[in-house]
Amino acid sequence: MLASTNSFLDSVDKNFRHAMSFLELPEGLAERIVQCNSTYTVRFGVRLRGRMYSFVGWRSVHSEHCEPVKGGIRFTPDADAEEVEALAALMTLKCALVDVPFGGSKGALRIDPREWTLQELERITRRFTQELAKRGLIGPGLNVPAPDVGTSEREMAWMVDEFRRANPTDVINARACVTGKPLSKGGIAGRREATGRGVQFAVQSYLRDPRTPAIAGRRDLNGATVVVQGFGNVGYHAAKFLSEEDSARVVVIAERDGYVAKHEGLPIEALKQHHMRTGSILGFDGAKTFAGDMSGIEEACDILIPAAMENAIHIDNAERIKAHLIVEAANGPITFQADQLLRSRGVTILPDLYVNAGGVVVSYFEWVKNLTHIPFGLMERRRRERRNQTIATALERMTGKAFPTDMRDEFLEGGAEIDLVRSGLEDVMRSTWVNIADLLESKPELGDYRTAAYVTSIRRISAAYEAIGI
Ligand code: NAD
Repeated sequence: MLASTNSFLDSVDKNFRHAMSFLELPEGLAERIVQCNSTYTVRFGVRLRGRMYSFVGWRSVHSEHCEPVKGGIRFTPDADAEEVEALAALMTLKCALVDVPFGGSKGALRIDPREWTLQELERITRRFTQELAKRGLIGPGLNVPAPDVGTSEREMAWMVDEFRRANPTDVINARACVTGKPLSKGGIAGRREATGRGVQFAVQSYLRDPRTPAIAGRRDLNGATVVVQGFGNVGYHAAKFLSEEDSARVVVIAERDGYVAKHEGLPIEALKQHHMRTGSILGFDGAKTFAGDMSGIEEACDILIPAAMENAIHIDNAERIKAHLIVEAANGPITFQADQLLRSRGVTILPDLYVNAGGVVVSYFEWVKNLTHIPFGLMERRRRERRNQTIATALERMTGKAFPTDMRDEFLEGGAEIDLVRSGLEDVMRSTWVNIADLLESKPELGDYRTAAYVTSIRRISAAYEAIGI
């Protein structure tokens, strides 16, 4: 598909080609890597409310240099094939960047989930799954969806159930057909928070690196002001972890109906409760409400975290962005033109394919767990606990002092699934940061972190293509 000018796909395409201009790839390979392999359009009908309703959806497979292919499914009213192709390309790059063995894919259904009841949504999701299954666009070894905008564990549970029904003779690995499932359906501890947790690790990695500029003279987040756009899965978790664990001040949360602001920092958990109770962040007690005002992202802050939709920062508002650091938690939140303008103003941008990779990293853990049929840590946990207990007892005997009580629990603990997931995710995010920053240091002509991340990914993808002789 040819990208329309200034679209999300156009921005991804331009970033791709810009990064490739620094690489000497064998003839024809660059084009092969950029192209989206296939985009399937599905139209189906569901009888609801006494009549037939038609729906349209897409599943794009960007690259199969590595299989299965992986990527979320979003339910949004303005989804289209171009958007899905751009997101699928980003998935290819993201998986390569964090070195998880998946090709890139993405899917969408054009629907506003708020217009349908729970039962209706379930029927629509199940029909969509049937269509994907018929075409080999879902399956543990083929194509593995996950939640994205407008979808969650609930939709993944319906999808895995429908997939099992469609494949009654092959149920042993069926749970690995989607990730982001509820724990009771084969999910993994820590998947729901994973993308927001990854955002936190990305910001920490950046700040701890002595090669990056400090924020307000500091190398931690204590007191740093943060603006977050989007209070869904990713935005909520990022805001929660950065404020509650790193003492950042989240001064603005912006949503589709306006924004709320508080100079001292918003209490994120209380705001979440208000959001769940009223359906909106607006009117939250103790914060200023700006109803219908979409300029929340332009408020002064140290760090801006767009965590809603693509193209949020464009050529018409980029000049008004006051943040020093933009952390792309959403996919494609800055257009190619806006990116150039922001960088010319000295704004640092941490790119989406790195920042929001936490979701696919933990999805990979979940997929492995489903295929191995054993929870992480099960075999070693008790042995580790006993060994740590022995060490603690030996230390107490040798020193004649009691083991410090504030450290005891953490030391003795043998590693629950959630701890292993967080530790694995932290390791991937930290080491990926070092790869990106090292590359930019050794090749300053790349100019920015996005290009360094793209170059890292494209090198890995091209090596995989060459290895399999495509
Ligand atoms: P979500 O549906 O849980 O939340 C999105 C939120 O953004 C919603 O609260 C919505 O009301 C809000 N929003 C929509 N348009 C807005 C606008 N114009 N201004 C302000 N807010 C707006 O979705 P999510 O899973 O949090 O995904 C957010 C972004 O992160 C997307 O770009 C998605 O592709 C990306 N992402 C998500 C995951 C994941 O694991 N869920 C992983 C990687 C990347």
